[in-house]
Amino acid sequence: MVRLCRYVTARMEVVIVKIISRDSWGAKPNKTKFSKLGEVKGLVVHWSAYPVAIGNQAEMDQCKQIQRLHQEDRGWNDVAYNFLVGDTGQIYEGRGFGNRSAAQGGNSRQEINYNNKHYIAVCWLGGSNPTDKPSAEALASIKGLAEIVGGELKAHSDFKQTDCPGDATRQWIIEKNATPNSTISNESPPDVYVPLKYEKKLDIIIAKLENIENKLKLGRLIK
Ligand SMILES: [Zn+2]
Repeated sequence: MVRLCRYVTARMEVVIVKIISRDSWGAKPNKTKFSKLGEVKGLVVHWSAYPVAIGNQAEMDQCKQIQRLHQEDRGWNDVAYNFLVGDTGQIYEGRGFGNRSAAQGGNSRQEINYNNKHYIAVCWLGGSNPTDKPSAEALASIKGLAEIVGGELKAHSDFKQTDCPGDATRQWIIEKNATPNSTISNESPPDVYVPLKYEKKLDIIIAKLENIENKLKLGRLIK
């Protein structure tokens, strides 16, 4: 299934993100119930530190590889991130919007608890070389998530001494933070769930929808 999240920002911009559900990428179930997020302060960007995944299949394989590492080698409940993003621009559901991540890190137990409780984690599927950088499509998807989450946009290295998420992404975050944030209105429509086989048709519908919304926005501004 594709989860289609459509949000209208306070500036009447439409943000639409497609999220590939856990079932669709072949995630194992979480071992125990997730802890819920507290008040969300923003989005934190990570990299996987694996070679850049090229293509949808490689992206799904890497999601599974990361989940195996976290569940089996590290003994965690599930893949640590709320979302994972590949260079195709596809977003894969990890723990999702409502649940606490295990990815943020910090300098003390207290900091780690706080960071995971209040920040949503997204992981780019690459980063085995220090010079690796996400594609424009991957960054656009991370930006879409950031607009939906609202609040601060941070790098993992803002919380602790780490190379994650890499120099290129760190620079991108600095530039994004230099331009004013658009806030999300409270009137976002509910998410829509669409079977994966309709994904291509969905892309066409989204493009038409964005076009209509932009015309409507223009109409409202003129009025
Ligand atoms: Zn990280």
